[in-house]
Amino acid sequence: MTEPWYADGLSFSCTQCGNCCTGAPGYVWLQEGDAERIAAHLAVPVEEVMQMHARKGHRGLTLREKNNGDCVYFEQGRGCIIYPVRPAQCRTWPFWESNLRSRKNWDSIAEGCPGIGRGPLIGVEEIVSRMREFRI
Ligand code: SF4
Repeated sequence: MTEPWYADGLSFSCTQCGNCCTGAPGYVWLQEGDAERIAAHLAVPVEEVMQMHARKGHRGLTLREKNNGDCVYFEQGRGCIIYPVRPAQCRTWPFWESNLRSRKNWDSIAEGCPGIGRGPLIGVEEIVSRMREFRI
């Protein structure tokens, strides 16, 4: 089997700039246990997370957005207020299968994510592990 193009690892360290959590509408899918972890972190009932902070989308529950398109959990000046318990979709970014399909895809998303290319080198085993944790 041929080695993936990222066999030597990739550097990434999130700057919490918020580019990926603000602006244009999108989806942040919740997986099993996410709502409970978020509720515990915020010290609010899980029903509040499910009803006030999430909505139904075509693949299940997705986080709501503010009127300006920002993620409901993104606060200007503070960043992500649930960062330690953020959903797998956020935790595994940018190591998604769709982004890793080619160097060209990776370079293209790097234009909007200043965390790509900085920080520690993430090894190929860890990259594959993150990629398997969340598929999009
Ligand atoms: S765009 Fe990249 S660096 Fe900025 S918050 Fe998102 S993951 Fe972090």
